[in-house]
Amino acid sequence: MDAREVKILTDRLIPVPKECRFRDGAEYLLQDRCGITLQVADSAGVEEKAEALCRSYWNVRPAITWKRNAAAGKWRDGAYRIRVSEKQLRIAAGDLAGVMNAFKTLRQLAEVRRGTEKTEGYFLVPCEINDEPALEFRGIHLCIFPETPLWDIEKMLRIAAYHKYNYAVIESWGVFPFASHPEFCWADKKISRNEIRRLVELGKELGITLIPQFNLLGHASGARAMTGKHAILDCNPALQALFEPDGWTWCLSNPHVRRIQTDLVLELYELFDSPPFFHIGCDEADNIATCRDCRKAVLKDLVRDHIVYYRDLFRERGAKVIMWHDMLLERGDERWKGYIVCGQPELKLGELYRELPKDIIIADWQYDYKKKPEDPEPDWPTAKFFKKEKFDVLVCPWFNEDGMCSLGRMAEKEGLHGMLVTTWHMFHDFHFLAIGVTGANAAWNPAKAGCVTNSTRLSCSMHVRQIGWDMGTVEYERTGWSQLQVDAGTHPHYLY
Ligand SMILES: [Zn+2]
Repeated sequence: MDAREVKILTDRLIPVPKECRFRDGAEYLLQDRCGITLQVADSAGVEEKAEALCRSYWNVRPAITWKRNAAAGKWRDGAYRIRVSEKQLRIAAGDLAGVMNAFKTLRQLAEVRRGTEKTEGYFLVPCEINDEPALEFRGIHLCIFPETPLWDIEKMLRIAAYHKYNYAVIESWGVFPFASHPEFCWADKKISRNEIRRLVELGKELGITLIPQFNLLGHASGARAMTGKHAILDCNPALQALFEPDGWTWCLSNPHVRRIQTDLVLELYELFDSPPFFHIGCDEADNIATCRDCRKAVLKDLVRDHIVYYRDLFRERGAKVIMWHDMLLERGDERWKGYIVCGQPELKLGELYRELPKDIIIADWQYDYKKKPEDPEPDWPTAKFFKKEKFDVLVCPWFNEDGMCSLGRMAEKEGLHGMLVTTWHMFHDFHFLAIGVTGANAAWNPAKAGCVTNSTRLSCSMHVRQIGWDMGTVEYERTGWSQLQVDAGTHPHYLY
């Protein structure tokens, strides 16, 4: 097989596996009674899942043989090996997660049989694939805005799982219908609790764990700052004392805040079926401590007690909290020059990290890269700082592909906990590829990660199509990764 053929096959795979070897020779036909050998250390749920995936992906009923492979139990979580020959497909993995990853790779690799009018089946070329993730935590942060349809969230979850992300942080922006405090949501923009529950269960089926987020410090408006909206106060002036006077940040001096927030976060945590993590936000707490009581208090103590209370609340339930890093580091500190930090020196929160338990996971969002091409590779000192202080760290890029790849390489080299790519309000059009695809490669295999090429864009469009088939999509706007091909806001054909 020449280099071009190898590249054609490799380009189908997102993320790119660590090692692939393709060979010429007779192909393996995915057909009823095709032989599949599963070699796993922990067989729980493996055979049933393999059968279900074969039916779902290729509409075949394989003949599965199971063998115990104790050695695979020592591999990294999610690792797998594939051997394809004419008569046999062998998959080795530690457990179900690795087997599912192998099937995701095989679905991307399988080619429809050639020369027929209609689809008659699929085949695999002979190959050997040895694969494992660079980072343990490979997360994507998805926002549900009042404008976000839940079918779009489902599609994004499905494609993220297909690209081997294993966590999705779900931040709802004023749309979650709290039973304990219904006024903490736009009355006319409530999403369905049953739908969220369905997505949580779907995530388990797909191998991606949903993590709820609730902002316990800044971003209390539940709406983007640039819109001037406030999900709670715009329609409930009676609740003003829970927030600092401009509404953006919670009032930490008010004892009712913690009582109400506790109800809110536990409701979310339970609806998400008690996942191992809860994201408490805590970024960009601008105008914190501006009310009469907070501005005379020792802010560091207020914030520490607040964060530690929620860390304890979740620790009792077996979960760890994740928080954004930026309020813990001060602007103007030369060590962070050129990197994102939001602590205002006058707030005196720069030493707060020393008083926080080390099992809090720090999510360090850095969205930039080199200012000029000739600049040296960024050093990413903030993430290294928190690692040195013994915190688990997630690096959190946005849509800067070079920055994302650089962060992935650094995170692997430094042995950081993982990556949480952010999407915010921009996860369609080219951002979908720049974030989702490049992020998948940067978190799984940063050594081979790079900017999206035309080939990976076309491969990704095939993957999104397969997701659409899984969802039974028939509506135009639900296909692809953009709802419309032409920006309706500019009416480009209207004038002609
Ligand atoms: Zn206050």
